Amino acid sequence: MNGPDFHADALDLPSVSGAYVLLIHLADSLPVNLVGRPEAILAPGHYLYCGSARGPGGIKARVGRHMQKDKSIRWHVDRLTVKGTALGAWVFPGRDECELVAMLAGMPVPIPGFGSSDCETCASHLLAWPTGTALPFDSRSN
Ligand SMILES: [Zn+2]
Repeated sequence: MNGPDFHADALDLPSVSGAYVLLIHLADSLPVNLVGRPEAILAPGHYLYCGSARGPGGIKARVGRHMQKDKSIRWHVDRLTVKGTALGAWVFPGRDECELVAMLAGMPVPIPGFGSSDCETCASHLLAWPTGTALPFDSRSN
């Protein structure tokens, strides 16, 4: 795969359908309660959330929403982007979020089932990005 573009500015995002990896930073630990599961605590650090957008406005609309602080909680990931900071996203036009999760195999799964309630393939659509770990699609380090 060619190196995807990282967009730190929501205004630069393309209005196309596809998938993205959202980079989130938590400065503080965050308790997360998913329905029917014991409370999990996310440690401070960097997280990678794999999502896709196929509706109007595509990736630009979806990732733009992730990067907004002021919103109602609708998806699991909203808890992280409200309490933490969505720093930007790598964009993969025409791809599927589960492909991105597969590409990131080996990254720790902090909360099984997070963002993947409707998915039979992935353990989670949220992965932790441990400090000093290389990403398969970007040479930056955290
Ligand atoms: Zn999946």
